[in-house]
Amino acid sequence: MTVGPQRIVIVGGGTAGWMSAAALARLLPSRVSLQLIESEQIGTVGVGEATIPHIRYFNALLGIDEREFIHATQATYKLAIEFVGWGRETSRYLHPFSAFGGDIDGIDFHHYWLRTRDEWPELNLDAFSLAAQAARLGRFAPPPEHSEFGYGYAFHLDASRYAGYLRAYAEQRGVTRTEGRIQSVIPRESDGGVAALTLESGERIEGDLFIDCSGFRSLLLGQTLGVPFNSWKHWLPCDRAVAIASGALSEPPSFTRSTATTTGWQWRIPLQERTGNGQVYDSRSISDDEACAQLIGSLNGAPQSDPNLIRFEAGARARSWDKNVIAIGLSSGFLEPLESTSIYLIQMAVFKLVEFFHNSKSGAVGREAFNRWMSLEYERVRDFIILHYHLNQREDSEFWQDCAHMSVPEGLQRKIALFKESATIEFYDQGLFAPPSWLAVYLGQGLNPEAIDPRVAQQPVASLKGPLEQLANHLNRTAQALPLHREVLARGGVAP
Ligand code: FAD
Repeated sequence: MTVGPQRIVIVGGGTAGWMSAAALARLLPSRVSLQLIESEQIGTVGVGEATIPHIRYFNALLGIDEREFIHATQATYKLAIEFVGWGRETSRYLHPFSAFGGDIDGIDFHHYWLRTRDEWPELNLDAFSLAAQAARLGRFAPPPEHSEFGYGYAFHLDASRYAGYLRAYAEQRGVTRTEGRIQSVIPRESDGGVAALTLESGERIEGDLFIDCSGFRSLLLGQTLGVPFNSWKHWLPCDRAVAIASGALSEPPSFTRSTATTTGWQWRIPLQERTGNGQVYDSRSISDDEACAQLIGSLNGAPQSDPNLIRFEAGARARSWDKNVIAIGLSSGFLEPLESTSIYLIQMAVFKLVEFFHNSKSGAVGREAFNRWMSLEYERVRDFIILHYHLNQREDSEFWQDCAHMSVPEGLQRKIALFKESATIEFYDQGLFAPPSWLAVYLGQGLNPEAIDPRVAQQPVASLKGPLEQLANHLNRTAQALPLHREVLARGGVAP
């Protein structure tokens, strides 16, 4: 029989708190009781709108109907992220949720593309991804079944509506919600973990396991248990963001846009009823007022909300699970939203918790495994984000020059060197970002390999050009035939 805690207390009702509550209510055995405490007075971070395809798996596991979800969260579809001005000021590329071209005779497609590129510069890599072509044309459809040109898709969503939706879901399944501000944390005698929480109202809430979803405060894991925060500021110097909503776009793109500025970058996220905009920046290089003015100057239309200024530091706690406290969401770590990974990291933490909690006899083995897993997840995402900053050739600011010249984590340095030397993408383990993602950024930001696969290098360009052209044309025709993203949304999403 599994021995495990019975009373689970979740601290915080942001996206992390309600995703945890909903998933645990669905996936844990019914003998577990779940209570969530949140404070309206404190509120949530109020940002977090772009996702990656894994969210569909989370929703499916919870039995959430996709059309109902799209309606409830005012979501739009997402096939890619567009990077503007990363690399050089004039560069522009897509990172789609798909591969490019497939493989030919066991050799990755990009070797063929690189072979022809010099003589055929007008055909960029995006032409070999159906998802990228559809995104460029403002179109959307779920991927064709059994096609080698399949892709994933995700959503842009209103995160507070998503939290509200999951709250209703969780409460229907027995999660109790307590409104109130936690005033003190009472330690557990046996090991210094947490025994109970006291609210301002005087109410005392006891638990066996505490899930810390208290946001940047990290009330239990950081403040109470003192688990150290490992800062990655030396690799990811941006430490502020300002977010402002503007009106909805008449033709909402099926991609997130990330535009580099001289001191960081801006996001533009199309929702059905509004557009989410934000600027991420290094506060040593630009003041809050200047960043805010830059963002307002770049909006498509008038601002529709007051600026939401957020301070942060890139990094993660040394352990996410300590004693009987598990941090999920911002309380465990933060990486800027360049690749929309925070909600994914919440999802992974919840699933791993379910896996290890359910099977754990003593708790210790599961705890260690959870901590190793989460550290690995954070580090993989971290390195991929650093890649975007490091691979730039911008000469317009010290900020970009410093990023280009900084020393990066050893594993990342090795990956970059390998690609530069031979166009090979290192991928030994199951990281979140698969080779096509690395390829999109390497080539999109101008890392030109010195050599390609010798089997392809020997082939005459003339013999490759025809088949490549045919493929690009085929994908373009297929993309042209897809419905407009706007029309799909007007119908309430993809038909069931
Ligand atoms: P919060 O939303 O801060 O929630 C904390 C909760 O804890 C609140 O309910 C609060 O009331 C409660 N609380 C705290 N202290 C107490 C107390 N003493 N007593 C009672 N309750 C308490 N993620 C993505 O996936 N995609 C994105 O595009 C994206 N963009 C982002 C942009 C920025 C600038 C930032 C900073 C983050 C972004 N994120 C994004 C991350 C995303 O916002 C968060 O991961 C997500 O919202 C989860 O936040 P949270 O629930 O951990 O914390």
